[in-house]
Amino acid sequence: MLYNQYKYVNTIKEKIKCRTAIKPTKAKHVRHPKTMIIINDFIVEYNTKIGFYLIVSCETISCPCCSGILKPRGKVKRIVIEKPNEKLDEKRTYVLQRYICNKCKKCHRELPNFIVPYKRHCTDTIQTIITSTEKHPDVNYEEETVKRIRTWWTDVRPYIIGALLSIKEKYDIDFTYLDPSQNLAKIVRALVNANLWPCTRSVLLTDP
Ligand SMILES: [Zn+2]
Repeated sequence: MLYNQYKYVNTIKEKIKCRTAIKPTKAKHVRHPKTMIIINDFIVEYNTKIGFYLIVSCETISCPCCSGILKPRGKVKRIVIEKPNEKLDEKRTYVLQRYICNKCKKCHRELPNFIVPYKRHCTDTIQTIITSTEKHPDVNYEEETVKRIRTWWTDVRPYIIGALLSIKEKYDIDFTYLDPSQNLAKIVRALVNANLWPCTRSVLLTDP
C-alpha cells in the first residue's frame, strides 16, 4: 500500500509531502466534563499582593465518583459575580483547590457553597432571582441576567427533582422535602457531591 503511494513520487520535496499526508493523525485529546465537590466549612483569605481570595477548606470530602481519597493537585482561579449591596455587582477572583482521586484518578475542583457549578453569579443572586415572583426582583439585576437565570432554572428544575429522588433511593438520604428554589445551596451540594450535577444544558434536554 505504502509502496504504491510512493511509486509516483519523484522529488524529495514531494516525498516529504506524501509522508505528511499519509501520517496517521493522533487521536484528539478528549476533554472530560469537570467534576467538582462543594464544601460548607471553609475560610476565605484575601491575598492583598495578588488581589485574589483563597478558599481554605476545613472539611474532608471523598471522591464523588468512587468515594476514593482525594489528594491536592494544584489550584485554579474562578471568577464569581457577587452583590455586596443593591446597586453594586462585584467580580471577585477566588483561588480554588483541585484534587485528584487516588482510586479513579479523576480531577475535582473544590467549590465553596456560594458558587453554583458553571454559573457566573453567586448562589444568593441565583436564589433571589429564581424565588422572586416579580418581573424584576427586589435588587437591581440586568434584565438579560434575570431572563437567562430563570430560563436555566426552568430547564434544570425537573432534572433536579428527579436527581433528588435518585439520591433518596440510592443513599437513603431524603432531600425531596426541600423546595429546590428556597434551598439552592443545600441542593447543589447534595447533587454535586453525589456526582449528579448536570454539566451542560444539552444534558437536561436529552431524554434519559
Ligand atoms: Zn474517584
